[in-house]
Amino acid sequence: MTAKFMLTAMMLGSVALASAAPAQAQDTIGIAMPTKSSARWIDDGNNMVKQFEAKGYKTDLQYAEDDIPNQLSQIENMITKGDKILVIAAIDGTTLSDVLQQAADKKIKVIAYDRLIRKSPNVDYYATFDNFQVGVLQAGSIEAALGLKQGKGPFNIELFGGSPDDNNAYFFYDGAMSVLEPYIKSGKLVVGSGQMGMDKVSTLRWDGAVAQARMDNLLSAYYGNKRLDAVLSPYDGLSIGILSSLKGVGYGSGNQPMPVVTGQDAEVPSVKSILAKEQHSTIYKDTRQLAKVTVDMVEAMEKHTEVPVNDTKTYDNGIKVVPAYLLKPVVVDASNWKQVLIDGGYYKESQIH
Ligand code: BGC
Repeated sequence: MTAKFMLTAMMLGSVALASAAPAQAQDTIGIAMPTKSSARWIDDGNNMVKQFEAKGYKTDLQYAEDDIPNQLSQIENMITKGDKILVIAAIDGTTLSDVLQQAADKKIKVIAYDRLIRKSPNVDYYATFDNFQVGVLQAGSIEAALGLKQGKGPFNIELFGGSPDDNNAYFFYDGAMSVLEPYIKSGKLVVGSGQMGMDKVSTLRWDGAVAQARMDNLLSAYYGNKRLDAVLSPYDGLSIGILSSLKGVGYGSGNQPMPVVTGQDAEVPSVKSILAKEQHSTIYKDTRQLAKVTVDMVEAMEKHTEVPVNDTKTYDNGIKVVPAYLLKPVVVDASNWKQVLIDGGYYKESQIH
């Protein structure tokens, strides 16, 4: 080997090394997730750890089991340990102001993950899906299944909302109502209980048992002698509770088909329920993509390049508008589950069948 060739090889080697090793490879990213009780958050956490580690970062992943003080102390610990950037999916989006001030004092950057962190100036970016569109898709799936556009009706419907301390819940509800309200006004959809508005239909902590109990009450108070045709449910975990209440009074058997029930997150039990003709649809949110957006945001902050955002207007947290990257949600039902979830590599077919 000539000296010149060796030198070139060494130079190439060092170039390759330099580009393979991220600038801040050893930094730790604190990842605070709300709960392991829902598969989607487990996927979110795992996807982020995998993708951050592939870029050479260390990760510190914590789940708070929907307990606010627990999440606060986990984040405080991350700050004390010197985590460089925090990625937080808040349990209650309004409770983090003090702890995020501590982070800001230490120049730690914060990304709100999927759920907006409210009432704090110390949120740098927001990585999420188009939450209004989630609601539009959920309601659109009811609209199509009932044939509302074709003038069919009137149909009876009940509405469920998500957790009132989660900013997303209002976006889902408002998006859904943007589709449903005209039909309610024209009388083609009738909310049998009359319960409308997040103050009446929300479900604290997205708890399926709470939704099931409310559905039980609605069925016995308003549907003794009339049929319920549709239920707007914003999340698969609630849909499971709602469906079990409906089954309890005979829906889904004999001459009583299930009402059209929506959902969100494409969790495995709900995909199975769709195939069993119980739940009608769900909303698929590719958590691999959300992890990727988050990793890209972190990389850009670390390298002082432009942070990828595509929305700088929508997400006002009460103190500032947080620059956001919104991914596209996709509606999934019996007609496209295979193409979206299996061909897309999100699940293996053996997980569903
Ligand atoms: C997320 C949804 C999820 C819900 C319950 C929301 O903040 O955006 O995807 O279904 O929380 O976990």
